[in-house]
Amino acid sequence: MKKIQLLCLCAALLQYAAMAWAGGPLYTNRDCTPVVFPASAMPIPYAVDQGELGDFSNSLAAGIVDDCFGVWQSVPTASISFKNAGFLPEDVNETNYEPYFDSDADRVSPVIFDSDGGIIDDVYGYGASDYIIGFSGSAIDYDASGGWYYTEGLTLINGRFTGLFTPAVFKATFVHEFGHFIGLDHSQINLPYVSDDNTTNDMYIPTMFPTSTDDDTPLGELNPDDEAALTMLYPAEGSDAAYGRIRGTLYWRSGLPARGANIVAVKQGDERMSQFSSVSDYCMQGDGSFEMLVTPGTYSFFVEPVYPLFTGGSSVGPYADTALSASFVFPVRAADYEETLTIAAGETKEIELFARRNWLRPVPGLAANLLQLLKNLGLISASGTEL
Ligand SMILES: [Zn+2]
Repeated sequence: MKKIQLLCLCAALLQYAAMAWAGGPLYTNRDCTPVVFPASAMPIPYAVDQGELGDFSNSLAAGIVDDCFGVWQSVPTASISFKNAGFLPEDVNETNYEPYFDSDADRVSPVIFDSDGGIIDDVYGYGASDYIIGFSGSAIDYDASGGWYYTEGLTLINGRFTGLFTPAVFKATFVHEFGHFIGLDHSQINLPYVSDDNTTNDMYIPTMFPTSTDDDTPLGELNPDDEAALTMLYPAEGSDAAYGRIRGTLYWRSGLPARGANIVAVKQGDERMSQFSSVSDYCMQGDGSFEMLVTPGTYSFFVEPVYPLFTGGSSVGPYADTALSASFVFPVRAADYEETLTIAAGETKEIELFARRNWLRPVPGLAANLLQLLKNLGLISASGTEL
């Protein structure tokens, strides 16, 4: 089956701060606290387009929107809620979309159905709707103490793909986009399962994975990494009873901090599903630190490079903007570690890991650039459809 190239521009709009970590928030404040919607904004109101979404009727598409906000709201350890504030005043299309992109004054987050891809083509150039499935991002403001917070999200979904995707697959796309809306970054977990033509293992891939998989249907439900990342941003009272915290540092063997590597904690006894991730130096402090919430248990660790095509709107962590970013120019060699950590609820444990450079790829940035060029030209589809 031919795989199509789709691009999730994700937080490409309305982004002002420039820090990210994976399995966690898209943006952080200077003190490393995540940028989130404040408690006073709950429930976050959203309003839905009056038009159709390609082949889907308005009521079908609007129902998917409600369901997908509900997926995030139902995580018991997180404190986030949404409210359907009714419909936008019109069917939004390429002739009238701009006010929804330009203002966050009403604090009601629009969900726009770009039924024929006309808005995407208008914003990103003719033909862009062939490969952009949708995007989501949130506007940021700052409070009296200089802390950043989200004011309003914007989500747009391309209806042209309703001819290719079932409503169940579209649900996975919406849940993923709404994850960006509330401030979550991508996470890279179970990469080998993504395009192996085996649909039975895609359930082990988190919703916030950057691309589509052999079968996205199970990605409409959250995985442990998605729930832990949400809980880190919006902890509910009592969430300490469900999670412990791992704080760590990744160094090169020289002792210098290693930036932009993907670190995965794997729970013994539930190895495929209970994996949690973070990217080293998530907060761009130059110290190689990482942090993640995990469910109680005993964990082993592995470290791997961010996949070279996860750049731009598909990036994982703060060092993957372009093919010449640190995650790709100085990639780690994938490695398993012998040490384990046993974490109880409410406990914080620390670990130091040491990585080797991958000298087998002497100019990895160049290799990634070449792959990106071939991908942009439509000549390769290295890992399926991007979300
Ligand atoms: Zn995305």
